[in-house]
Amino acid sequence: MNEVFSRLPAVPDHPALEEQLLEVWEREETFERLREQNRGGPKWSFVDGPVTANKPLAVHTAWGRTLKDVFQRYKALRGFDQRYQNGFDCQGLWIEVGVERELGLNSKREIEEFGLAEFARRCREVVVGYAEDLTRGSKRLGQWMDWGNDYFTFSDTNIEYVWRFLHLVHERGWLYLGHRSTEWCPRCGTSLSQHELSQAGVYQDRADPSLFVRFPLLDRDRESLVIWTTTPWTVPANVAAAVRPEAEYGRRGNGEWVAVARYPDGPFVERKRGGELVGWRYQGAFDELGPGAAVEHRVIPWDEVSLEEGTGIVHIAPGAGQEDFELGRVHDLPVLMPVDEAGRFSADYGWLHGLSTTEAADQIVGWLGEHGYLVSSGLYEHRYPHCWRCDTPLIWRITDDWLIAVDELRPQLLRANAEVEWMPAYMGKRMDDWLRNMGDWNISRRRYYGLPLPFYPCSCGHLNVIGSRSELERRALDGLEQLEELRRPWIDAVPIRCDACGEAVSRVAEVGDVWLDAGIVPFSTLGWQNEEWIPEGYGTGAARGLTTADLPDHAYWETWFPADWVSEMREQIRLWFYSQLLMSVALTGRPPFRKVLGYEKMLDETGREMHGSWGNMIDAEDAFARMGADVMRWQYCAQPPSQNLLFGFGPAHEIKRRLLTLWNSVRFLVDYGNVEGFRPTLTELESGPGGELRPLDRWLVERTRQLVSEVTAGYEAYLTVTVVRAYDAFVDDLSNWYIRRSRRRFWEGDETAFGVLWFGLVQSIRVIAPVVPFLADHLWRNLVRGACEGAPGSVFLAGWPELGDPDDALLAEVAEVRRVVELGRQARSSSGLKLRQPLRRLVVQGASAARGHAAEIADELRVKQVEFGEVDAAELRVKPNLPLLGPRLGRELGAVRAALAEGRFEELPGGAFRVDGHVLERDEVLVEQAGREGWALAADDGLTVALETGLDDELLLEGRVLDLIHRLNTMRKDAGLELTDRIVVTLPDSESELVARHGDRISAEVLAVRIESGGAEPAIART
Ligand SMILES: [Zn+2]
Ligand SMILES: [Zn+2]
Repeated sequence: MNEVFSRLPAVPDHPALEEQLLEVWEREETFERLREQNRGGPKWSFVDGPVTANKPLAVHTAWGRTLKDVFQRYKALRGFDQRYQNGFDCQGLWIEVGVERELGLNSKREIEEFGLAEFARRCREVVVGYAEDLTRGSKRLGQWMDWGNDYFTFSDTNIEYVWRFLHLVHERGWLYLGHRSTEWCPRCGTSLSQHELSQAGVYQDRADPSLFVRFPLLDRDRESLVIWTTTPWTVPANVAAAVRPEAEYGRRGNGEWVAVARYPDGPFVERKRGGELVGWRYQGAFDELGPGAAVEHRVIPWDEVSLEEGTGIVHIAPGAGQEDFELGRVHDLPVLMPVDEAGRFSADYGWLHGLSTTEAADQIVGWLGEHGYLVSSGLYEHRYPHCWRCDTPLIWRITDDWLIAVDELRPQLLRANAEVEWMPAYMGKRMDDWLRNMGDWNISRRRYYGLPLPFYPCSCGHLNVIGSRSELERRALDGLEQLEELRRPWIDAVPIRCDACGEAVSRVAEVGDVWLDAGIVPFSTLGWQNEEWIPEGYGTGAARGLTTADLPDHAYWETWFPADWVSEMREQIRLWFYSQLLMSVALTGRPPFRKVLGYEKMLDETGREMHGSWGNMIDAEDAFARMGADVMRWQYCAQPPSQNLLFGFGPAHEIKRRLLTLWNSVRFLVDYGNVEGFRPTLTELESGPGGELRPLDRWLVERTRQLVSEVTAGYEAYLTVTVVRAYDAFVDDLSNWYIRRSRRRFWEGDETAFGVLWFGLVQSIRVIAPVVPFLADHLWRNLVRGACEGAPGSVFLAGWPELGDPDDALLAEVAEVRRVVELGRQARSSSGLKLRQPLRRLVVQGASAARGHAAEIADELRVKQVEFGEVDAAELRVKPNLPLLGPRLGRELGAVRAALAEGRFEELPGGAFRVDGHVLERDEVLVEQAGREGWALAADDGLTVALETGLDDELLLEGRVLDLIHRLNTMRKDAGLELTDRIVVTLPDSESELVARHGDRISAEVLAVRIESGGAEPAIART
């Protein structure tokens, strides 16, 4: 006879099973059929945050991709029509720095010598290569996207949309050129924006030189100011020293002035208010090196001077520090800028010329020492900002950057954010905080491979901002024929005519912040304000040939904007979520998304950051091969989004163990179902299992309903952890209660039991399918597609189960039974009795719903009798809570302790006790219920069970019978017998009493046709 179900191996080989399903899905065009099936259905709009195409898929990225896939699959099962467009981020420092490394280029000068056109082509190659890698990895993860119709942020279309936005920003008067001090990466040769500094890894612990430096006062003989700094390179840029006007300063015997608060022990020979020091002139330490000599160094007042660290006198270098620059504006201080774009000292600085800020540190310290300026030096550990891309410590420089003023937009942004539903909610609060406190957006970067800022400032004073390619073409004076892409270097060779004076004007050299590229996506990919649908119209510029994505028309944008849901890690609050929100509010006044799921960081399984150099980084390929995509996905989904994910092979092992419970349950159905010729009925998935249902069957049906309702609520709340927990609990109930309690019915071929188990398993597989798509579809294909005529070919084509509300009373009843059994097991294990040893009696107190299940409880716990009522087998044990009572009672503690141990105490209302003349409060004692002699006890949350532990001859004999049955069944298994094989058992004479009194039971349990006597050990033989 043909078997209905395919047999399953003992353990699933996840990677092999997944590879096989990937082929099947491809061959059967499962995803295309799903999209076809949902076409015209209600719309659910998801917008993918672009992944930077500069490395292969990492396990970190796979987390977000899994969440995106889970909810798209869920919505698809519910019939929603979706876009499935994947995106790649293709420009900016990430890409450039990778190419620089590959080409061995170390500075901007070397890039320019290499040639910008060739450099741009190399950058594109990198994007193309990694986009392929990422696509391959994402497919392997099981992510269903419209691969091939991806968006690439370096397309001319995307660039044009950003131009349109910048044009509008300019029209509104928000665009300006700022002259300010800013964090600067000397290696990358560019300033960075506030939000780039908020990325993970920017602030790192670092030991820097700590210097106390003496500045000799010019008008006070042999007196000096002492300042403290951790950046030696800024000392040559010093122009002033700040004191706190109302603080007290003191002069030491050696003439050094410091704040008294910093050195309270003095001694000081003279004291003055800070205000009295203001105006004093001093000599700079590097005055002989040109620039410093021309400056009059003096003491200025500053209320912000810290009295928590340093000397209370702060060295001010407006050319090398942000606050310094602002103070310099207030006091009209000269600005010395000692280093160039690459962070190297300029020629004005004599022997320092050409040294980097770090190279110069030791030499500056040496010089200060040799020339009598150094008071002391050491090392100082602090958090210091580094370049997010190349890890170089940042410096401060004065630059002219293009900025978007945000003050006018701020209230609108706050209102828009308040409309967004954030999960977890605190992330919305973070966004709110950021919006309240953020400064203007620095959008310019002095780099090459990025969005060309369309700014053409004319010498007549007019700023021309180009808003589209057609406008550029209309106003171009030259160079259009060589314009390969809207990109450097080609665009730089296209001068335009000034709107105001008609003269030729060139573009600024700067490129744009990459977050402009990503923030415009809800407009550039959905065809905002595009008059006519252009087939394959998104594949322009550098994206030509990489994608067949259309540029839709405005009606399409109206349909799909705003996104119903977006999801990225928390860091994106200040990055993609922010740039999108700002651009969307500026363009439309509306938020670009309705709901957001954010999630915290990924660490290794021991809680450390993952780093290539620490050897704890997990390669996605390795994870696919060793744990499989389903196990990875489960690990991601089991994670509450508000906590860091500790990812690794250890947790993966545990997940495999749990998935094995599901696997074993299916395998049980497959094996016994095949033996008994069970054939499921497809319509029962909707109507419920047929046949005469027993109470336990009805319970599993209700339990299945409960699962579907809990899981649905989890998906609707965008909380996969709820889904996973509900599923885990269900599989435990199904395996450790329904199957356990129904074993005999399966052996006897009870059609109804098979039908109910099949119903529960299949429905559960349907609802967990978004989380573990491979395993779920594999099992669906076996249990449903292969077994039922006309069944959907994939679980993903089967829609969502609609089972109605569960019967809560019945569920509560069985949940209580399971609790009683669980406590009974605890009591048993505390007594040290074997689980197989039958016992006389169990008393249950505090359970009401479980009363009707005495027989099941008795059977589960191997007791002869279950009683419901007061447990009087308990006795109160009270012990002193030593940390509290010890200090209070002192020497009397010993006597109290002895009285408690002997039971000489009186229980008072409210949980206190009177002992030996003392009243001990509730928290001063530790109270436990213990069984009296001959009883084992367990209690939890209002429920108490007491197990009578005394054994008589009859119970002992029965215990031996059960041991023997267990031993014989183990022998059957070890001999590799089939479930239905019959055997002959041979037992030694010593077991004759067991055979005489319980022979039938033994035979039935081990499928023995007869029992013979003889031999020294039990033996079995197949008949
Ligand atoms: Zn850098
Ligand atoms: Zn002009």
